[in-house]
Amino acid sequence: MAIVIKGSVFTGKTSRPLYEAVVVEDNMIRYVGWLDEALRVAGNNAKVLDFDKRLVTPGFIDSHCHMAVAGLYMEIGVSLQEAESIADIIEIIRRASAAKRSGEWIYAYGLDESRLKEKRLPTRWELDNAAPHNPVVVEHISGHLAVANSEALKRAGITKETRGPSGGVIERDVEGEPTGVLYDSAMMLVYKNLPQVKSEHWVRGLHKAQKAWLSRGFTAVEDTGTFGSWKEIVGAYKALLREGELRVRARVAYALQSLKELDYALNIVDDESRRVDNEWLRFRLIKFFYDGSGLARTALLYDDWCKNYEPIRGYKGVRVTEFNDAKTILKKVIDRGLRVAVHAIGDRAVDEVLKAYSEAVGRPLEECELSIVHALLVSSKSFELLRKVKACIKTQPGFIYTHGHVYAGNFCEERARHAFPLKSMLRAGVVVASSTDAPFVSTPNPAEGVYGAVYRRPRIGRPNVFGKDEALSFVEALETYTHYSAKATGWDDIVGVLESGKRADIVVWNIEGATPSEQDILSMRPILVMVNGRIMYKAPGHVIG
Ligand SMILES: [Zn+2]
Repeated sequence: MAIVIKGSVFTGKTSRPLYEAVVVEDNMIRYVGWLDEALRVAGNNAKVLDFDKRLVTPGFIDSHCHMAVAGLYMEIGVSLQEAESIADIIEIIRRASAAKRSGEWIYAYGLDESRLKEKRLPTRWELDNAAPHNPVVVEHISGHLAVANSEALKRAGITKETRGPSGGVIERDVEGEPTGVLYDSAMMLVYKNLPQVKSEHWVRGLHKAQKAWLSRGFTAVEDTGTFGSWKEIVGAYKALLREGELRVRARVAYALQSLKELDYALNIVDDESRRVDNEWLRFRLIKFFYDGSGLARTALLYDDWCKNYEPIRGYKGVRVTEFNDAKTILKKVIDRGLRVAVHAIGDRAVDEVLKAYSEAVGRPLEECELSIVHALLVSSKSFELLRKVKACIKTQPGFIYTHGHVYAGNFCEERARHAFPLKSMLRAGVVVASSTDAPFVSTPNPAEGVYGAVYRRPRIGRPNVFGKDEALSFVEALETYTHYSAKATGWDDIVGVLESGKRADIVVWNIEGATPSEQDILSMRPILVMVNGRIMYKAPGHVIG
């Protein structure tokens, strides 16, 4: 029996009008267009779901995220994402400790001091008060630092005398006593004592994470995993697929740590892709890092980095992968017929990756075989090359809203004005896909990304520091989450656009029409999410049908 979904229908393409209805039959879209014709096509027995003027879109596609890792955090950790003060953090840790035996680890994640009233990190002593009998480690949302309590430091053997490891810092107070704050490789001193993660944690976590992504309107993802966990992550996805429980379509990447691992990675990805490659689960993708981070000021730039809008003379960031190594990786991955996603944040990194690709591969490419993940700074001379090599962008406009104050201070004003150049890239004919990168830096909430793309206004700090020339219209922002995300992730053969013959992955939103107010955008949430013709999520409090 056919279903008619009536609302304000955005097909995923800004070139099409806003239609009135979608007809779904089994798992497929049969018709998209005007209501009269939809009712005729659907026939007399059709069920009509009338959403009045509510916005209807294709299921959103998160073109770069770490859904399985988010699930693991949910399974083994305690979320601090809702905390608004140090007192909230202490209370959350206290409750976690009450549910644990003495001596059992507490691992908390999502620490973001910019969201706290006090605008600072908690100290080890505050964490001691919250859980005096448990080792506690709290991870920052950037992934670059963690705060440990006294018991956790003791188990790691960190004292006043301990020297920081190479590539890491043990922060100290004026007396030289460790404050509990550990940067980068120093985090491992504590992390190596955490209990072993088991495959069932990954599986249970993935169940939880896909619910979180669905409830935000995502029906497909590209999951770039994390170093050293390919087998566990793929195992979890395959377990859900076997149980018929995989509800979000997923392409899972191998997260390559270095060139040394490449041959192993190519073989294992090739093997797995031969076993599984269907409408729910795909692989055929390798991801690697070319430069560092925009928050930690390690991305590779042409000009000096800044801190709080002041230049750091002579410091331009780092390459994580050398240019010639990148060429080798790109060539071998493409020769295997796989896709490649490269983390590049700085303008110089983006240029070098494109150059490495054209030198190493040097043939007309399939669209989006190469994608650049993040691309926060892109020099205008890269636009042409992006188009020429048919590379796609997977960016995170939500960062403008959530962490724009930090990025702008790190970029300085002039560069911030042109950062996240979504409009220029679209105008140059580049496929620009949006994504969340959750759980790193952000949560899986596309509303923040749509807001960032349209208003380019940070949550705190200087409101107009990101130039409005690069602002998208609301429907252009939607296209980056649907049509273009589908292309960038290679799900466009079956989803990403509402048109006859595509799978019925559809979201109905709590806003009306396609010209929402600023506040409407920030609070946009799905009221119904359909995947493959089945309703997978309904917002509480809405009567449907
Ligand atoms: Zn990421």
